[in-house]
Amino acid sequence: RWVFMNGEYKRKEEATVSVFDHGFLYGDGIFEGIRVYDGNIFRLKEHIERLYDSAKSILLNIPYTIEEMETAVVEAVRKNGLRDAYIRLVVSRGVGDLSLNPDSCEKANVIIIVDQVRLFSKELFEKGISVITVPTRRNIPDALDPKIKSLNYLNNILVRIEANRAGVAEAIMLNSHGYVTEGSGDNIFIVKRGVIYTPPTYLGALEGITRGVIMELAEKQGYTVKEQPFTRHDVYVADEVFLTGTAAEVISVVDVDGRKIGNGLPGPIAKELMAEFHKLVKVDGVQ
Ligand code: PLP
Repeated sequence: RWVFMNGEYKRKEEATVSVFDHGFLYGDGIFEGIRVYDGNIFRLKEHIERLYDSAKSILLNIPYTIEEMETAVVEAVRKNGLRDAYIRLVVSRGVGDLSLNPDSCEKANVIIIVDQVRLFSKELFEKGISVITVPTRRNIPDALDPKIKSLNYLNNILVRIEANRAGVAEAIMLNSHGYVTEGSGDNIFIVKRGVIYTPPTYLGALEGITRGVIMELAEKQGYTVKEQPFTRHDVYVADEVFLTGTAAEVISVVDVDGRKIGNGLPGPIAKELMAEFHKLVKVDGVQ
């Protein structure tokens, strides 16, 4: 594996970052996760746009133009020779002193890792997953806006730990008002009487790129999609529940906090959207 580090390629074992990097010291930085399907980088432009939006929001200067960044990602994928891969793009504030003042960091560190990812097994995609809701709350945009894909993922990590301890594949966060927001690394959708619902991101969710793709695909298939707040109760009594994300793709949820969803098997709408999603990712990307 070759890792892009500020314009140079380093071998995986030699791709190291200083302990004085503020990404390490303070989580001061941003990232993106992007998929490559059959040689196509899926929704590269949207991911790069979100990266630059995150950077702008936290006043982080990325030392590349958007075009240069796109080229760097495409080249990093080529250099690694992978047709199916997961790209992790990280921009940290860079090396500074021990104060948290970012002014001590001269230059951002730009890192592109191309590797494989496997979040859920084939069996889980076929059978669906069980999830729980957890006490960890997703912050609503009165503090750090969840639209910023920052290196501060402690909330999400706590959620993962809670899921692991409960022996389930993923967990769902509520916000401080009790509305459903998202999973530790994916967005949530529910289906009720043929209508598809997903929480508005202002409740405290990342504006997932897969979420947007699924909303488009669902509308193209003739479904109504509504961005509407909902509670745990609405999830418990939904006909279908599914999650979307770059790593998760589209996966059905068949049990939430011990409540069986529908008949306990992946629902027809989730299955249809999964199939449409798989068709799309192979043809719609940057080569
Ligand atoms: N929510 C969170 C917290 C995430 O980290 C991710 C992953 O990127 C998502 C949702 C899904 O977003 P996307 O579809 O852009 O990968």
